[in-house]
Amino acid sequence: MKNQQKADAKNVRNLVHNMGNWLLQHQHHIRIIQWGVVVVYLTLIIVPVLLPLPDNAGHIWNNLTIFAQFIFWGIWWPFVLLSMVLVGRVWCGIFCPEGTLTEAVSRHGMGWSVPKWIKWPGWPFVAFCGTTIYGQMVSVYQYPGPVLVVLGGSTLAAIVIGFLYGRNKRVWCKYLCPVNGVFRLLAKLSPLHYRVDQNAWQESQNRGHVDIANAHFNCAPMVVVRQMQSASECHMCGRCQGFRGAVTFSLRSPGSEITSAHAKQKTNLWDTVLILFGLMGLASMAFHWASSAWYVSLKQLFANFVFDTQQLWIVTADIPWWILTNYPQHHDVMTLLDGVVMLCYLGVGTLLIGGTLFGGLLVTNKIIGSWSWGRLHHLALTLIPLAGAGVFLGLFSLTTQLLKSEGINIPYLQAFRLIIIGLGLIGSIYLGGKVINSLTPNFKQKLLSIMAFTITVFVAGGVWINSLWPKLLPMIFS
Ligand code: SF4
Repeated sequence: MKNQQKADAKNVRNLVHNMGNWLLQHQHHIRIIQWGVVVVYLTLIIVPVLLPLPDNAGHIWNNLTIFAQFIFWGIWWPFVLLSMVLVGRVWCGIFCPEGTLTEAVSRHGMGWSVPKWIKWPGWPFVAFCGTTIYGQMVSVYQYPGPVLVVLGGSTLAAIVIGFLYGRNKRVWCKYLCPVNGVFRLLAKLSPLHYRVDQNAWQESQNRGHVDIANAHFNCAPMVVVRQMQSASECHMCGRCQGFRGAVTFSLRSPGSEITSAHAKQKTNLWDTVLILFGLMGLASMAFHWASSAWYVSLKQLFANFVFDTQQLWIVTADIPWWILTNYPQHHDVMTLLDGVVMLCYLGVGTLLIGGTLFGGLLVTNKIIGSWSWGRLHHLALTLIPLAGAGVFLGLFSLTTQLLKSEGINIPYLQAFRLIIIGLGLIGSIYLGGKVINSLTPNFKQKLLSIMAFTITVFVAGGVWINSLWPKLLPMIFS
């Protein structure tokens, strides 16, 4: 039995290794796939803007605007996110149209060195929040104009950055892409990665080994391959497979990167902020604000104030669609009042959720021993499974809504959502427990800190339950 298991494990390892070789040997085909995706992507963001908005007779199969909406928000977003957890950043390296365009343009651009402002580590958080909030303001999930502004604007920025900075590189992807931070975090869970064998690398160097097929490979996202111990920065493009006999496409235990000593040393404040305030806070708020009873109450409060003070321009001002949703022909208009209330609701909710979870980690950290920011950031990483599960389900709600409007109901949907949230909870508690276990030998400290951490994870679970079933908590507390 044991021998059989060993043989199976070896077969799987060989299969993964062969997949790595296949990717290296088929770079030309990967280029064809990439440019094919660019053509489809540009068609789907540009053509719907030129068409009239769909009426009631429009369906996914007979209306390009609805088809594009389904591809972008029903398939692309949720499943690209899921792919990060399952196979790392393969999307970035093989399919992403922005990556392809920025790298191609940088081949013929100015080639300037990357300035300091681009390397600011807070960009992933700021860009994620900016895109999420703006997307809600203009209803990006519903209309083609905002899709062109948000996705097209991001693509244009990727091209400009590619033209100005780097030579044959993906400066945009590494530093400025609005989803780079989220992808970096989720890829830490991936069971697939490029493993670098330091001894083999050194031996190859000592031998003066130059007989390497990919001796001049180009790592577009500028990973220092020799020192690579994380799947976060790697776009899984396959170009460095086999380099110096030291780089191999390999399997690892999912989440092992988070519990590793490397993760402990490489923690940073901005990852923590993105997890607590970006993914847990803002993303969970953005998925449910429109159907929240608390949002409706807050809006009522603001509306009373507006009418009491006779500041009616706040509800009558005509705001362009690229600032706030404005489609009167579809009875879909956001007034300035709606916009302000939404921003307040998202802002306060984000601070409350992020602050509460930060407090939970603070207590856990304090119980373990003397203060350490590094330890707190390491604990925050263990919340990635739950954050990822919640964001995936939030995006998957769009898939189910779009299918529902076509008369297709997904069976056992609520059970599926509960299972995914449950897996996220279990994953976070398991990783948190493992990290805490490695941090202190003291049994009492271990027990108390695991209890504090588990409570924090359950609060985070409650946040997602409120986001995915927004009527539930207000009903319980009313
Ligand atoms: S580290 Fe290797 S596989 Fe990863 S992006 Fe760079 S060249 Fe591609």
